[in-house]
Parts: sequence; structure tokens; C-alpha cells
Amino acid sequence: MIKTTRPHWSYSSVSQYLKCPLQYHFERVQKLPRKTLSDAQVLGSALHSALAHYHRTIQSGDPVQAQQIQAAYLAAWDEQEARGQVVHSGDKSREDTRSLGVALVEVYLKEPPPTNIVAIEKPMLAPIANSRGDYLEKPILVVADLITRQDDNSLQVGELKTSGRSYSESEVATSLQPTFYANALYEMTGEEPAVEFTVLVKTRSPKVQKIQAIRTSTDYQRLGDLIGAVETGVEAGVFYPVESPLNCSGCAFYRPCREWTGNRRQEVNIHPGVKEVVGC
Ligand code: SF4
Repeated sequence: MIKTTRPHWSYSSVSQYLKCPLQYHFERVQKLPRKTLSDAQVLGSALHSALAHYHRTIQSGDPVQAQQIQAAYLAAWDEQEARGQVVHSGDKSREDTRSLGVALVEVYLKEPPPTNIVAIEKPMLAPIANSRGDYLEKPILVVADLITRQDDNSLQVGELKTSGRSYSESEVATSLQPTFYANALYEMTGEEPAVEFTVLVKTRSPKVQKIQAIRTSTDYQRLGDLIGAVETGVEAGVFYPVESPLNCSGCAFYRPCREWTGNRRQEVNIHPGVKEVVGC
């Protein structure tokens, strides 16, 4: 991971603001500590860590041993779990969810292994421009799970996901995440990459779904416009709750959210005689 103190935007910060601006405020403005982790977060993080280990083994040319990759997954699970109280959702016990990850590693290892690996968990801090051609003040930060060179010599970014169901074509077509990756890689290399989602589907019989996303310069500019709008909202103190079962179940900030009583608009002096209203 890039250690940077430079302010930046990421897919997770932008999508968090779009999903629930108040949750963004608690996490990224007030910087309240997360006291809980969902079991889905622990599972996703442990799988990322184990499969990065797998990809590094392939890249180094060492023999791959499934047991080692599964052991890496279990060690990463334990490490994640030690970081905070884990909230188990749905009807699965801790053991069921932990074992599900072992099965997901197993199905991933049965897939053809990636070839021509260029980078693994590659962080990139890249500029982004809006539709007027103006670069935003803050760059974007992405961490690409896997970058490979395809047979036609094009670059491909691989993004690992875990999901309770398969992704639809329209979901991938409208997702912002591939646009973050494609824009960053384009800015860094001048090449137009494809993005491939590898979805580890957590069904009773786990399976792997691969689905591609193509992005163009129009998508990059639209992302620049969107980030600009989010930035305006954050700077103006526009933070409000978006309550829905999908957002709120497992939200680490449920208690401060219930205590929230609206934005406190107040005037502050920024220059003698000039006042500015700030919120929250
Ligand atoms: S509990 Fe729901 S509405 Fe409140 S901050 Fe969390 S996600 Fe947003």
C-alpha cells in the first residue's frame, strides 16, 4: 500500500459518500473508530490476502500448494478477526463463514492460473480530469489486485470480489470501480486497459464468475465530474443519513447515527467582515 499523506479520493471514499453521506462523515471527517467488523469484511479481506499470496507464488515460478494458500487464508482470517469485534450476519455461524472461505479458495485454484503477471496489489496515485479537461486538485488512489498482459499485448486489471450472488452485466457496466482502475492505469501508462471482475460467489456450491468491463475517456471525464460534485458536497458540509436495510445492517456507526440530530449550521469569521456557514 502507498503510504501517502497527500489528500486523495478512492473508490471506497466516493462510493461511501454516495451511499450514505453521514456514514462518510463519521468515518472520514470525525474519524470515529470502527468498533465492529462484519464477517463479510473479514472474509473478503482474508481472501484477498490469500489470493495475493497465490499470485505471488505463480509470479515467482515456485510450485503452488493448495494447502499453503488455504493456510494463508486462515492466518489472514485470524489476523483480521483480532482487529475488532466481528458481527456475524445472516444465519451463518463464524465457523461456517470461515470454512466458506476455504471452499472459495479451492474453487479459485481450479480456475486456469493467471499468466503474464505484471503487478500484484499495485497501488497507483493518479491524476483525474473532469469533462472540461481540468485536473482535480486531489488525485485518485487505487490498489489493483492483479495486472496482467493479455495475448494481444493489452493490459488487464483483475479485481477480486466476494458476493452472495452473481453480478449482472448492467451492474458491472455502471460500476464506478472499473472506471477508477482504468483511469489510473491510463494516466500511469498511456494504455487503455480492460478490467475483469473475478467474483467469488458465496452460494451453497461456491463458484467463480468472470465478467469484463470496458471504459473509455468519456467514462473517465464523467468520473472526474462526479468526484468534483462529491468534493463540493463534502466541503459544504452536506452530510445526511440514507437509511436502508442494505446500508444500515452492520453499519459500524449505528449508535452515533441514532444520536445525530441534524447539521449544526453556524457562521464563522473567515476574514474580518466576511462570514461563512459551516455544517455538522
Ligand atoms: S446507520 Fe445507516 S443511515 Fe446511519 S450512518 Fe450508518 S448507513 Fe448511514
